[in-house]
Amino acid sequence: MKTGITHLYIPGPTNVPEVVRQAMNVPMQDMRAADFGDLTLDLFRDMKKVFKTTTAEVMFFPGSGCSAWEAAITNTLNVGDTVLMARHGQFSTLWADMAERLGLNVITVDVAWGAGVPVAEFARILGADKADKIKAVFVTHNETATGVTSDVAAVRRVMDECFHNALLFVDGVSSVGSIDFRMDEWGVDLAVTGTQKGLMLPAGLGILGASQKAIAASKTCTSRRVFYDFKDMLAMNANGYFPHTPPTQLLHGMRKSLDRLLGEGLENVFARHARLAEGVRRGIAAWGLELCAESPSLYSNTVSAIKTGDIDAREVLRIAYTRYNTSFGSGLARLAGKVFRIGHLGDLNEGMTLTALSIAEASLAEAGVKIEFGSGVGAALAYYTEGRIPAAARIAAE
Ligand SMILES: *Cc1c(COP(=O)(O)O)cnc(C)c1O
Repeated sequence: MKTGITHLYIPGPTNVPEVVRQAMNVPMQDMRAADFGDLTLDLFRDMKKVFKTTTAEVMFFPGSGCSAWEAAITNTLNVGDTVLMARHGQFSTLWADMAERLGLNVITVDVAWGAGVPVAEFARILGADKADKIKAVFVTHNETATGVTSDVAAVRRVMDECFHNALLFVDGVSSVGSIDFRMDEWGVDLAVTGTQKGLMLPAGLGILGASQKAIAASKTCTSRRVFYDFKDMLAMNANGYFPHTPPTQLLHGMRKSLDRLLGEGLENVFARHARLAEGVRRGIAAWGLELCAESPSLYSNTVSAIKTGDIDAREVLRIAYTRYNTSFGSGLARLAGKVFRIGHLGDLNEGMTLTALSIAEASLAEAGVKIEFGSGVGAALAYYTEGRIPAAARIAAE
């Protein structure tokens, strides 16, 4: 019999705030009713704010982040088109695999799992592509498998510098709503996210931002798609309806979660994630452990992947789960057993990251990693309370 709270520190699904769960507890309703657009049109408007776009359209497709990947590709690229992608973690690898299976000719640049998108290599390849043979450039903004955030603006800059006309696809599944994302400023043509990460909702919808350039491309695109066709979706969305039955509960939850994000203020949301993440990183450093991310400029504010050296990271996960009712993220694919991940995004506060660190300490120690108890928690506490402890009360480390 498990008592108390079950702790979820995985990078999605994230914790759903109680008020959001309550907001979803509504009766079924008529999705063709005259006033249905009162709910949905405002959701489209506010989701554009989260993407930071005034010019793109947003669409909600039943599915998850990966279905929005597929919708983005099949609406704008033709079978046989050449695209440029990097593989630097499990999510970027799966997206490249999908692109290949959908019939695209994928130029893949493989870099270390822990590196960011190889901007210089992209610049070289795009610069050499004088005939604009490359139709799209794909960027995984936040590689959730490795805890790496890449520089989307830098990719846009190199595309502009060589006057390249390719579409820019960005996977923002674990960044949108948690880490700054600027669709218009970065010239993102297809922005992909889902409901179960920064938006603090259950899984169930793939969310897509499509620029006017992407929508224009969809009008001549010959790839087969039916359920995910932009044309049907945009035609119905114009009046707040959908071409199929939408998950209305999820839409009511989204209303509440968008209210929370916009009420806190997006910049404050990003600052909170940065602060919580920095506390976690201080803790990890105090343990003497290393992140999978290669350098500080790549550190993700939504997830940290922590290397466990000679110790099997699966043991850490098993102990946390069985002894402490706590889920951390597992190491994916080639990182299985080598890292465990702490997801620190969504509806989170300092008490929660401190709990994560303390349970990680206990689990790491029991798995055989040499840990000084309290070291990570202490480092995070020192950071979170910085400048607030009166001189007379400062006893630590002096
Ligand atoms: C979670 C995630 C996905 C997959 O999303 P699903 O909703 O599971 O389909 C894709 N990309 C990134 C970066 C993710 O973090």
